[in-house]
Amino acid sequence: MTRVLPADDEGSVRDAADRLRAGELVALPTETVYGLAARAYDEDAVLSVFAAKGRPGFDPLIVHVTRASRAELEEQGVLDGSRLSEAAARAVDALAALWPGPLTLVLPKGPSVPDAATSGLDTVAVRAPSHPTTRAVIDALGEPLVMPSANRFGRVSPTEAAHVADELGEAVALVLDAGATEHGVESTIVGIEDDGTARLLRPGALPRETIEEALGAPLGEPAHAGADGGEAPLAPGMLASHYAPRKTLRLLDAAEVDLAKDAPPPEGRPGVILYSNARRIALEARWAPAHTRVLSPEGDDREAARKLFAALRELDASDADWILAELPPEGDGLRPAIRDRLRRAAAAR
Ligand code: AMP
Ligand code: MG
Repeated sequence: MTRVLPADDEGSVRDAADRLRAGELVALPTETVYGLAARAYDEDAVLSVFAAKGRPGFDPLIVHVTRASRAELEEQGVLDGSRLSEAAARAVDALAALWPGPLTLVLPKGPSVPDAATSGLDTVAVRAPSHPTTRAVIDALGEPLVMPSANRFGRVSPTEAAHVADELGEAVALVLDAGATEHGVESTIVGIEDDGTARLLRPGALPRETIEEALGAPLGEPAHAGADGGEAPLAPGMLASHYAPRKTLRLLDAAEVDLAKDAPPPEGRPGVILYSNARRIALEARWAPAHTRVLSPEGDDREAARKLFAALRELDASDADWILAELPPEGDGLRPAIRDRLRRAAAAR
């Protein structure tokens, strides 16, 4: 049995750090989703994260730290500062000021990070999470952690401790339970180029506007993944299909009360995920859903993001035959992250 312990307890934190030191995998709450943690410096532990998730080796992990200034990252061997131009170093300093929080920066990889963690890339993704439990575990261990979401590869991310055991079972020795996570979607990923340009590689819990304000410049867009890639940015390991429930998921464009895809709807009664209450009556009349989940009655993006993955998971486990989700219209703040997760969850597998 996977042990689940309360997160706000010194003994739990010590237990987690001891197991990590011994090379075991531990699931920890972060401000985004629950993560599957292993020692970043231990290549075998890193490989066991890929194995437990069924994650392909080409999809690099994020290294999590608590000491996160540019100098501290260099000192820990996470960052190779000699490969940062002056302009890039200035951008790193401006963005590191947003830590701790749900922001990941892609930087020149330092010598302490094993190649397995970065899928052989010479860059490394780094984040300083704000969740007190994860920070306490990193500090007790005295070393950075790799920590992808604690789910089987390509599946819905866990936002509660119970989701982790559902996904990974015995592969994870210990889960620290801190209740439902604060943001509910993953970190925003930003790549920094030689000339100091910062690019948005994945929309996430930290809004673009906040990042641009800290940077004093607009974020560049990444290359896009092909004609039908839609908003999908092209970063290593960023696949069109991700965050997917087992059941068929169709998206309903908020602009029309119609299926956004040409194909006829699947047989049977859907479980419906509504972004807000605005179109509930029309939708329920048309689709006679087996179940309805409203992410945020008033259409508040923070609340919707927090509830999104749990709603997908609940309807996936319900007796609904398929899932129909309302795609909210484009917008700022958390909206790009919500749309990105829904589109990937619905993408053809
Ligand atoms: P997650 O799956 O939430 O742990 O996020 C990891 C994601 O970060 C990967 O799927 C990549 O898209 C991105 N990533 C990690 N390392 C790098 C890197 N060196 N360069 C670009 N993107 C990266
Ligand atoms: Mg993930």
